[in-house]
Amino acid sequence: MECIFCKIANGEIKSDVVFKDEKIVIFKDLNPEAPTHLLAIPKEHIESAEKITSINSAIVAHIFEKISELKNDLKLQEGFRVVTNCGEAAGQTVKHLHFHILSGRKLDWPPG
Ligand code: 5GP
Ligand code: ZN
Repeated sequence: MECIFCKIANGEIKSDVVFKDEKIVIFKDLNPEAPTHLLAIPKEHIESAEKITSINSAIVAHIFEKISELKNDLKLQEGFRVVTNCGEAAGQTVKHLHFHILSGRKLDWPPG
């Protein structure tokens, strides 16, 4: 298994984990683009948003429920953005579904 986010999920690669449970891990992005830049991933390997189906979509709801529950602990009170890049043209570099959680500065819209 060569997927770096699977390795982060199973602890093979160290990361700065801020939350984990039996289904997901939330950890700090290695190259933060904002004062708070976290990545929320399912432990299960799903390649990208285009691989979400009725079989595996509950994990997406779970991730968003946890973001909402943890918003104070994660310092998201001032507002935050959740984004997933799907495919190379959209800037996806790691082919394991992940949601960027960005906060702590004014975020421009539309993103570049
Ligand atoms: P993408 O470009 O696929 O949307 O986002 C991948 C993100 O993963 C990037 O923001 C990148 O900084 C982050 N990243 C890549 N490798 C690692 C790693 O080994 N550890 C951590 N914490 N973040 C990583
Ligand atoms: Zn993976």
